Amino acid sequence: MKMPSNNQQIFVGTILGIALGSFLNSSGLESPFAKTTLYFADLIGNGIFLNLLKMVIIPLIFASIAVGIANLRGHAQIKKVWTLTLFYFFITTSLAIILGLATVHTFQPGKGLNLAMFSQNVDQSHLQESFTLAEFGKKFINGLFLNPFAAMAQGQILPTIIFAIFLGIALVLVGDRRGKGILNLLNELLELIMMMVQWIMKILPLGLMALLTLLTAQQDHHLLFAMSKFITVVIAATLFHGVVVLPLILFCITKITPWHFFYSFKEALLTAFSTSSSSATLPISIECVENNLKVNKDVSRFVLPLGATINMDGTALYEAIAAIFVANLAGIELNLTQQLIVFFTAMIASVGAPGIPSAGMVTMMMVLEAVGLPISAVAILIPIDRLLDTFRTAVNVEGDAIGSCIVHHFTK
Ligand code: ASP
Repeated sequence: MKMPSNNQQIFVGTILGIALGSFLNSSGLESPFAKTTLYFADLIGNGIFLNLLKMVIIPLIFASIAVGIANLRGHAQIKKVWTLTLFYFFITTSLAIILGLATVHTFQPGKGLNLAMFSQNVDQSHLQESFTLAEFGKKFINGLFLNPFAAMAQGQILPTIIFAIFLGIALVLVGDRRGKGILNLLNELLELIMMMVQWIMKILPLGLMALLTLLTAQQDHHLLFAMSKFITVVIAATLFHGVVVLPLILFCITKITPWHFFYSFKEALLTAFSTSSSSATLPISIECVENNLKVNKDVSRFVLPLGATINMDGTALYEAIAAIFVANLAGIELNLTQQLIVFFTAMIASVGAPGIPSAGMVTMMMVLEAVGLPISAVAILIPIDRLLDTFRTAVNVEGDAIGSCIVHHFTK
């Protein structure tokens, strides 16, 4: 019998995962069948699939950024790639925040609700005393320049990227002869890791199925219903950005059609959706962008790892919506200056959030604090975050891929 194609396997895995999870959700999680299924879903989804992705992330990021920068040296392109990438990140994140602000003002999901209604559900244990912009900035800067070995051993992505950027620049500056050995080594390391990524892709359908089973089985319907207006507004705005705004920018600039893009990038989108982690999705994103969207490796291996950590349109959009939502709950009207503060802090928050599940919830506190809103409100958002994080992570990852197509287009 012929093996089903990879696409068919992914399709079946996704449907089965959602169906099985929904069945367990409605029939209760206490039966022996449910417990065994969840045990195996956790083992396969988190224990194997997600851990395999995490296993390759750090060496992949390190080698790809250093090599990405070093390989740009021949092209008089290096400056162009940098500026285009950062310009694209800035513009799309700004658009996402503006969209978020416009949507939340139009639909006012906080209307009719108030903070006190949630007070008995508020679990204070998640909250730190305070999280001001100044403290956030200090923590952020303090986390940038670390011993690269320590950073890598602890899986800290941003300091790893910074060290890789320095190494890449040094390789450019020493010229062809002296850095050659290291550059060859890194190039070869990268190729070997990408080979491992292809192996991981083989179990992608199974991994997706397991993670989607867990995700759907563990949603709390009552809570989702109570917050349904807010959830709908967030998901609709996130989808609008991901399905209309970003693909339109891509099409206008590169003539790549949305269907071609989504078809080529579906594995990464599904992985982002089910893992809620841009970083964990990175190996799959690189694979899809290079093989299916034919982006030059020098570009993709620079733009994607950087974007996975600092370019998060979905997160920025969410933080803006959530801040205004919390203001509504607290009965506070934010003036124009405060909204501008929300705009900028949401941007900083999205840059500062690492690409891991619910990272945006932590940086959210800074946004609230900056405009004097109660940070305890984050506790209301935490229980529904697993669901919202799926969509915003998918859009975060999509934004990076579209960025790499655009930079590729301008630097071909
Ligand atoms: N989970 C998101 C990501 O990895 C970050 C966030 O919590 O917004 O992209």
